[in-house]
Amino acid sequence: MDTPVPFDRLAALRDGKPWDVLIIGGGASGLGAAVDAAARGYRTLLVEARDYASGTSSCSTKLIHGGVRYLRQGDFALVSHALHERSHLLANAPHLVHPLAFVIPAWGQLDRLVYGAGLKLYDLLAGSHGLAASASLNRQEVIAALPGLRRAQLCGGIRYWDGQFDDARLAVTLMRTAGDLGATCLNYLPVTGLLKSGGRIVGATLRDAESGEEFEVQARAVINATGVHADHVRQLDEPTAAPLLTPSQGIHLVVDADFLPGRQALMIPKTEDGRVMFAIPWQGKVLLGTTDTPRPDLRQLDDPQPLTAEIDFLLRTAAGVLMWPPTHADIRSAFAGLRPLIHPEHDSDRQTTAALSRDHAVMVSPSGLITVAGGKWTTYRRMAEQVIDRAAQVAGLPAEPCTTRTLKLHGCPSTPGEDVLGTDAARLVELPGHDRLLHPAFPYSEARVRFAIRHEAARTIEDILARRTRALFLDARAAESCIERVGEMLGEELAPAPKRLKAMIFQAQQCARRFQVIPT
Ligand SMILES: Cc1cc2nc3c(=O)[nH]c(=O)nc-3n(C[C@H](O)[C@H](O)[C@H](O)COP(=O)(O)OP(=O)(O)OC[C@H]3O[C@@H](n4cnc5c(N)ncnc54)[C@H](O)[C@@H]3O)c2cc1C
Repeated sequence: MDTPVPFDRLAALRDGKPWDVLIIGGGASGLGAAVDAAARGYRTLLVEARDYASGTSSCSTKLIHGGVRYLRQGDFALVSHALHERSHLLANAPHLVHPLAFVIPAWGQLDRLVYGAGLKLYDLLAGSHGLAASASLNRQEVIAALPGLRRAQLCGGIRYWDGQFDDARLAVTLMRTAGDLGATCLNYLPVTGLLKSGGRIVGATLRDAESGEEFEVQARAVINATGVHADHVRQLDEPTAAPLLTPSQGIHLVVDADFLPGRQALMIPKTEDGRVMFAIPWQGKVLLGTTDTPRPDLRQLDDPQPLTAEIDFLLRTAAGVLMWPPTHADIRSAFAGLRPLIHPEHDSDRQTTAALSRDHAVMVSPSGLITVAGGKWTTYRRMAEQVIDRAAQVAGLPAEPCTTRTLKLHGCPSTPGEDVLGTDAARLVELPGHDRLLHPAFPYSEARVRFAIRHEAARTIEDILARRTRALFLDARAAESCIERVGEMLGEELAPAPKRLKAMIFQAQQCARRFQVIPT
């Protein structure tokens, strides 16, 4: 057995040397900021309380898009920025993001005209960053694109293009990119307090979730990129700070590809709650989503659960348009994510304290804590650029230009490849189990698990099944049956204490059940 040498993963914290930038939170916002800061040459530390992308950033609809629905709201600047970011990502991470065709069916001629005009505007806003022009389809063309669609009264539709990606994989890739650029990124290391001197924030206290060891780190700029947890960190700074955020939940269901045969996605333009809904081919399955359910009731913001009403709503909406609609028993996996929404009553405050756009906000507290909240995966790079510009100003760091617009992400192949590991895929053959599948339901080899532990900072069974592979998101029952084997490999690679390994197996089993829907 090729056994890796044990290493001290927290070694970089032990010399007490101050950091230029400390980023709290390892989701899209924090990881993007770490890449930007490290690319400018700042000494950068990112700490994540649990695993990278274990919050909202692994639970998105997995689209790199301008957001057709924002057109309805007239937010053209937001759409245009996002479409530009889409093209940067397609160029910088062709192993992770690919174009996908979406078809909007029309059940009346007027709808067809209205959607067609809206999508022409989308094309216009994309300008030279467009993927392919939207096109009007006749009834036969829609049926050919989406053979699973109900046909009664269908009169045609519109096809447009957007980007699709694997959210947790992009997060891991950003962590690796930041590391390549010299940043230190550490998971399972929550910030437990903020250090102040003369009323200014000068660092933070951290606690290793595995050993309980505590650290104090000094930093010139401290960035709060903790998503729906941002108020909690703001209150570590100012205990009386009024909460700014309220969570809104969005869920997705994963069903077999037979429910929507073909390689094109379906966009349902009007649901009973006035939103849009997608049915999207993704990694050999179909993703149905999403919802928008205010959750002011949530006391605990980790691991939100799909509500029965949300599951019923998605199944009911799908049944309205699909010929072979899925039922509860067909759901392979279900997951929920939380959007941090800014309380409407704080909108006017924000104008005075923040450099903000409609979709995200960057706020600086009197003691210098920089908070970034909101936004989308699609615009993570642009948000990061704005946050690091602001951090450099606040902390008086030497001004350095942002370089991420053309920065290739870790593993970027010279020609677009199929494998999300990019150039790292070739390294799997060096590892044991490269010719053995973890489970017949998934395309992952056992070497992929070992690679995740050795090179992608996977620390638990859940990290591997949920975010280094997407097994739990694709088929939660099949993933549950991989737990013992993944536990064995993790035991060989990291040699955790037997008690810890047992706890990890139990925790992974609990987690696998959260992704399952019990048929009613
Ligand atoms: C249902 C849904 C669908 C979406 N679909 C899309 C889409 O298709 N395309 C798109 O572009 N965008 C989409 N989005 C938006 C996108 O997912 C989010 O904008 C993005 O993931 C937010 O990332 P974040 O880093 O701000 O938050 P998070 O991903 O929640 O990350 C915050 C991190 O901070 C960590 N943390 C919290 N407290 C601490 C602490 N004390 N110390 C250290 N770490 C801490 C948490 O563990 C967490 O990992 C969607 C969002 C939702 C909810």
